[in-house]
Amino acid sequence: MGKKNHEWRDSPTDTLRVNAGFSIADFDCASTPGFTGHKRHSSQLMEERGRILSDLQERLFAEGRSEGNRSVLLVIQGMDTAGKGGIVRHVVGLVDPQGVQHHSFGVPTEEEKSHDYLWRIDNALPTPGHIGVFDRSHYEDVLVVRVHNYVEPAVWGKRYDEINAWEAKVVASGTRIVKCALMVSKEEQLNRLEERLDRPDKYWKYNPHDLDERSYWDAYMEAYQAAFDRCSTDIAPWHAIPADRKWFARLAVTELLTQALEDMNVTWPAAEFDIQTEKQRVAALRAAK
Ligand code: ATP
Repeated sequence: MGKKNHEWRDSPTDTLRVNAGFSIADFDCASTPGFTGHKRHSSQLMEERGRILSDLQERLFAEGRSEGNRSVLLVIQGMDTAGKGGIVRHVVGLVDPQGVQHHSFGVPTEEEKSHDYLWRIDNALPTPGHIGVFDRSHYEDVLVVRVHNYVEPAVWGKRYDEINAWEAKVVASGTRIVKCALMVSKEEQLNRLEERLDRPDKYWKYNPHDLDERSYWDAYMEAYQAAFDRCSTDIAPWHAIPADRKWFARLAVTELLTQALEDMNVTWPAAEFDIQTEKQRVAALRAAK
């Protein structure tokens, strides 16, 4: 890794990747795997990496304006209070909003319900040159839907393979998928819910329904484990991001996105005009002044 990136001993692309044998029960949501720096370094590092991320995003955008068909899709999942909104604001906010296509997925509307569960997801895929951001995603259809049995187990049970096949198709069409699960501990979730009730500037984030969902914590963890076991593929691996320390989660997702774009080797598109001719035309205008 580059000099400026020295605080990462190991790349989060490797350390946070969900591999076979990964167990949520053994996962430490307050850990900072692979990071040797301190919290006090994090804002400077965010700025440094953010500049690189922003430059890469501009290249991707430029590529999309010419012949390119590539894009990036950042999938963000996590329990309530895990910090999904903070990732959108602090990480995605590092790049030019023109190049971002953000979608959040709530309870399906009547129209969405009348289609297959992947219909609304397909419609929200990023167009060439863009970074698509899914705040919640098709994984809700094997998380909340599984926990509450909104459809028969035989139906949600088939979805893991369907999702893998759908993601493979998306990747083959030129979209790099970066899947991030923000893993907040049950204790830290309670702290965050409590804080929301103590601060008038956070009341708007408090949803009484979050407490009801919290009572299904173990079933949610089982559902996350299954999504990891079944859908962390080579084509679109999951990354489990420890999220009890917000600064770490934001740094880690910044790094994952930056590395994904670095891997894509996005270069500035060549001029689609004759540079010499255009230079001469501009020079002639200059001389005529
Ligand atoms: P968030 O909790 O993400 O900050 P929010 O509280 O503003 O968002 P919405 O975005 O309106 O709420 O909706 C999120 C809710 O929608 C979550 O409870 C989520 O589980 C639920 N949801 C998302 N997708 C589905 C789905 N396919 N089926 C049922 N419920 C879903």
